[in-house]
Amino acid sequence: MQNLLHNLNPEQLAAVTLPAQHALILAGAGSGKTRVLTTRIAWLIQTGQVAPNGILAVTFTNKAAKEMTLRLSSMMPTSTRGMWIGTFHGLCNRLLRAHHRDAGLPQTFQILDSSDQLSMIKRMLKALNVDDEKFPPRNLMYFINGAKDQGLRASDVDASDDYNRRMVELYDYYDNQCQREGVVDFAELLLRTYELMSRNQPLREHYQARFKHILVDEFQDTNNLQYNWLKLMAGNRGAVFAVGDDDQSIYAFRGANVGNMSAFEHEFNVQNLIKLEQNYRSHGHILDTANVLIANNTKRLGKNLRTDAGHGEPVRIHESTSDLLEAQWIIDEAKNLIADGALRSEIAVLYRSNAQSRVIEHALFSAGIPYKVYGGQRYFERAEVKSAIAYLQLMDNLHNDSAFLRVVNFPTRGIGARSLEQLQDAARAHNLSLYAAVPHVAGKAGTSLGAFVNLIESTRFETAQLALPEMVIVVLAASGLITHYQHEKEGADRVENLEQLVNAATVFVNEEGFGHDAPAFLGPQSAPMSGAGIVLDDGSEILDADAPLPAVMSPLSAFLSHASLEAGDNQATAGQDAMQLMTVHSAKGLEFDTVFITGLEEGLFPHENAQKEEAGVEEERRLMYVAITRARQRLYMSFSQTRMLHGQTRYNLKSRFFAELPEESLKWLSPQVQPFYRYDSPKAAWVDAPAVPSAALGMRVKDNGWRIGESVVHAKFGEGVIVNIEGGGMNARAHINFGRHGMKLLDLSIAKLEKV
Ligand code: ATP
Ligand code: MG
Repeated sequence: MQNLLHNLNPEQLAAVTLPAQHALILAGAGSGKTRVLTTRIAWLIQTGQVAPNGILAVTFTNKAAKEMTLRLSSMMPTSTRGMWIGTFHGLCNRLLRAHHRDAGLPQTFQILDSSDQLSMIKRMLKALNVDDEKFPPRNLMYFINGAKDQGLRASDVDASDDYNRRMVELYDYYDNQCQREGVVDFAELLLRTYELMSRNQPLREHYQARFKHILVDEFQDTNNLQYNWLKLMAGNRGAVFAVGDDDQSIYAFRGANVGNMSAFEHEFNVQNLIKLEQNYRSHGHILDTANVLIANNTKRLGKNLRTDAGHGEPVRIHESTSDLLEAQWIIDEAKNLIADGALRSEIAVLYRSNAQSRVIEHALFSAGIPYKVYGGQRYFERAEVKSAIAYLQLMDNLHNDSAFLRVVNFPTRGIGARSLEQLQDAARAHNLSLYAAVPHVAGKAGTSLGAFVNLIESTRFETAQLALPEMVIVVLAASGLITHYQHEKEGADRVENLEQLVNAATVFVNEEGFGHDAPAFLGPQSAPMSGAGIVLDDGSEILDADAPLPAVMSPLSAFLSHASLEAGDNQATAGQDAMQLMTVHSAKGLEFDTVFITGLEEGLFPHENAQKEEAGVEEERRLMYVAITRARQRLYMSFSQTRMLHGQTRYNLKSRFFAELPEESLKWLSPQVQPFYRYDSPKAAWVDAPAVPSAALGMRVKDNGWRIGESVVHAKFGEGVIVNIEGGGMNARAHINFGRHGMKLLDLSIAKLEKV
């Protein structure tokens, strides 16, 4: 026990050992919030205040949940089984499986990820003949998810005009369609659980009595529904221990409400508010940089952070002329670090948007440096893997129309658009799923659709007694997917990806404690729950407090949920010492010895979509704060004058955030560009700054023939005026004001300029 506590500072110790009451730990990055939360769980159990099954801990990602479980196993002799540690989505999935009947769902309900959800909406709009220019599918999706995140069903939404009334109708239609297919989207997982718990008193009371301690990490990023869910789970018995940092609230665009922190303080009458001010992660220059930057935000709860670690190395800033050179520079630096003994897995490259990773990946690949990308295209989202998953989904739930449509004619079996139209009409007319509607289709279409149904039926029959990995093998072969890709040019990678699904299933079955020969699914006749539950007066079943996963889900259902909910790291690189590539959003909560923050350019970081409103820029600044505070010892920031993004070359100015950093903590690696234009205030636009000595104005720059003040024409930007020239010869660059297109920094030896 002493061991558990002896490394904590006095504030941390106070937080870990608080009595069983609500508490809020408000503290900056790297101050040990997650560590305190984990240690508190161990302490509560070690001191006998609660049994493992009285713990409910909510983390932000599955990865964080896994890490927390691992930490706990190493901290205490007691088994961590019985504790519920997971994300909101993961925990709700589990609750809904156990109580699927009360929740009105098939036990084998399937989870739609965002891309499934979007394609389902598109399909629905088409079937309803809705003009998708007037009602863009993506907007409808945001509308639906936004409403659900607020806890609102279609009938609860106040529609102010015709347009919104139509959106509400479509929302309602969408929900019915999901229900018919037995599928739920991410937001629905939460809303359904919330409704189940509010409606079902015995169930609610059971869980309220069970979870004596509810602990929430990254509390600043909870949305309203999650907050209310926590309230419901706590009731007036559970003690909620929330840790968070308002400066790291970066999910407002998804409905996160940082106001939940003060709401929590008041509504739960929190008596224990603890601030942690010592940072244990970063060296001084890094921490100063973060502190000075975030001080520019106006809406803050106010905290301080200090470190004893000493200044350490300065924050290095690098400018390059193109994104390719930026990537090359990262690789050169990383190689030096690795040669000096750095672990590759302790080097992270962060970027604002996923599209930036391609160039860096390419450079790493060419240099032969192993790397791992998080949050990019996930393994389970690859086309071939999705198709295999769709077959597996049909094995488990014949009425999943999305899965049906994905593979009914893939690989091709002569089922054309006309046949599918007939089928869809029949399904609508009889209010059936596509699968169930097949017998209602006559003629040639009926025959070929019937053959597909036979294929699914016979595969289900053949696999009914098989364990999950064996089942996957059979499905891959029977579906014809393997043969299809074997015959495709350059299909080898895809075959390999498909084969990896067998490995993924094997690892999954082992990790989740399913028996090796446990049948993968409940077979053609859906069996009742495995009986580990307690039956209540009203006939509803409550799972036994320690019911392991197999009691509430078949291996197949669990695996399919995992495919939808997990980050789906590429198995190929798992376990290898690899450099870490990810967006700033997915770096939340993590730490690395060395961090590169790349693409620090206006329009990219801060992102152009966020620049219109001050609140948007403040969120970008918090994102930048998160990025900086991931670094322990070494931090690099870089920007590039030109960048290819989405097929276009962009000429960018460096990020306004550079002007907000403490000069004494920085080291500019490349000559700093004279800030001819400075960003004056968040509200004003770029304004002229008289930074160029007047003698320079009108002075002819000998070897490139261009003059400041001269008018020029550019093929893309049209007419502009040269306002500054730097460098000479091959390195000469000019700031040119292109009026409507704004200020560009162009390489004079590359840009094709003409004199007016
Ligand atoms: P973030 O806001 O980024 O999520 P956090 O507040 O959760 O950060 P942790 O990740 O818990 O911070 O801790 C940051 C680092 O500091 C970890 O490596 C942790 O082990 C270490 N640390 C925390 N407290 C102490 C302590 N008292 N002594 C030594 N190291 C500590
Ligand atoms: Mg943390």
